[in-house]
Amino acid sequence: MSNPAPQANTTASHDDVAVQTQQGLYIDATALSLHLPALEYRNNALYLEDVSINELAEHYDTPCYVYSKQAILDVYQAYADSFATLDHQICYAVKANSNLAVLGVLAEAGAGFDIVSRGELMRVLAAGGKASRVVFSGVGKAYEDIEYALNQGIACFNVESISELILINEVAQKLDKQAPISLRVNPDVDAKTHPYISTGLKDNKFGIAHEQALAVYEQAAGLSNIDIVGIDCHIGSQLTEVAPFIAAMNKVIELIHSLQEKGIELQHIDLGGGLGVRYIDESPVSIEDFAQALLPKLTELGLTVFFEPGRSIVANAGILLTRVEVLKPTKHKNFAIVDAAMNDLIRPALYQAQMAVIPNHLPAKGLDTDDMQPWDIVGAICETGDFLAKDRLLALATNDILAITGAGAYGFVMSSNYNSRPRSAEIMVSGDRHQLIRKRETIEDLYNDEVLWQN
Ligand SMILES: *Cc1c(COP(=O)(O)O)cnc(C)c1O
Repeated sequence: MSNPAPQANTTASHDDVAVQTQQGLYIDATALSLHLPALEYRNNALYLEDVSINELAEHYDTPCYVYSKQAILDVYQAYADSFATLDHQICYAVKANSNLAVLGVLAEAGAGFDIVSRGELMRVLAAGGKASRVVFSGVGKAYEDIEYALNQGIACFNVESISELILINEVAQKLDKQAPISLRVNPDVDAKTHPYISTGLKDNKFGIAHEQALAVYEQAAGLSNIDIVGIDCHIGSQLTEVAPFIAAMNKVIELIHSLQEKGIELQHIDLGGGLGVRYIDESPVSIEDFAQALLPKLTELGLTVFFEPGRSIVANAGILLTRVEVLKPTKHKNFAIVDAAMNDLIRPALYQAQMAVIPNHLPAKGLDTDDMQPWDIVGAICETGDFLAKDRLLALATNDILAITGAGAYGFVMSSNYNSRPRSAEIMVSGDRHQLIRKRETIEDLYNDEVLWQN
């Protein structure tokens, strides 16, 4: 697990590389490593922390997901520092990346967790997380989920409907427990993000309409085994502006005051997750500025504050490594067929997500080399939607290793076995060390649990 001594960083300056050509193509190469804290070129070879990508690809084979432990901790710490003046809890949204090692690193740093299933709660506990720092979100909590979470003693159920509220009361009654709850209110705020990841509009399935919230709280107050402890909202994901967060917070604070008038006192306000990251050229508000914008009102409010960030903590801590299998230039398009596919990383197909693709080695002749061509980076799956990136200006050869950046969130967790493809390995690096944190599936794993029809 040793690697060459770190060498001088030969990364070009931002001006040299953030190039958009006339055709709207991006020269991804070095530009995008600059906003990825743990990724850099040393002597033209790519490193994540102090581990060379070459070494990782050789050691673990491709495709594989690789996460920087330090990058995860740095973002978590930025949240913790930015809200240090408030009584607060950062509840990492497990669904963004639920690998036990990732959860373990965050648990050790003191994080709480936002879960959406019993499975996620079991993962948190297996990783050393504390149930008392867990909030349970999601529109469809089943009886067994609620029972398990109550028995483990979670901090709060974020309730999304009246029927869920009644079900939680019923389960709590049966277990002779009090269930701590907050209502997830839908503030009807436009998060200005992709429609599939917008959750705080009245047309979305999430939460309880703002206008109904008071009545539902009054109903909750009358239920024997419900303890009202908070209020919650989560308006969407990959938000780059602070304005929608402020609009949602203001609506929630208004509700808190109306509840106080009715004698319902809360202990916490949960403002959800959703802070965006830079994938290509987005300029999301920084965690520090996000905090500065929210702090005055939250300080005045005086309640404990919960946040549920997922993407912003892990997205840019992770890369997906893939190898170029086949180069297929055609008259109209150049296709690079790689060994990762939409089953490994579905964000481009599902959300039209743009993710940067950077080569393991910079082209020998530098960035303005004539060898560069626009390439579509595609998988080998039988779907036209099976692409990882389109129109990227790269100098490619067969067997090149490419890193798809921003892959730490909603990457591996959304992977599947479509086309009977085993899911990839996951690796974590820290300093000059690297460890396998999930072994690659074998083909046999895929059908071992299947049974032939018996005549
Ligand atoms: C998905 C989700 C989050 C995390 O969202 P990010 O955009 O990844 O920060 C937080 N809370 C709830 C309720 C969610 O569904």
